[in-house]
Amino acid sequence: MDEFMQAAIDEARHGLEEGGVPIGSVLVYQGRIIGRGHNQRHQRDSVVLHAEMDALENAGRQPASVYKECVLYTTLSPCPMCSGAILLYGIPHLVIGENRSFMGAETTFARVGSSSKSLTATNAAN
Ligand SMILES: [Zn+2]
Repeated sequence: MDEFMQAAIDEARHGLEEGGVPIGSVLVYQGRIIGRGHNQRHQRDSVVLHAEMDALENAGRQPASVYKECVLYTTLSPCPMCSGAILLYGIPHLVIGENRSFMGAETTFARVGSSSKSLTATNAAN
């Protein structure tokens, strides 16, 4: 297991322990996690704190030069809101844990030339 996907899964577990939806995410810059988060819709009664948004928020405001070298790891295919944020900040690489239980807006990334890789899709092909 990739250490960054494992960190995203750990975040998902943390969310589950809090009684939330178990989805986790980490933002990686130059081989180091600069933001991590998990879905907090139930915990904080939030409409926007999906795992990816939480990880971006916890990374703090970064210069564009940082975002353009980041990889975002998420345990579940990102919804249109999170996909939009990923595109807005110009994060070029996305690693998705799975997209069987929910297929987000992954086709959006291909349209703008960003890379996304679903681990379940990779596993299914093997
Ligand atoms: Zn989302």
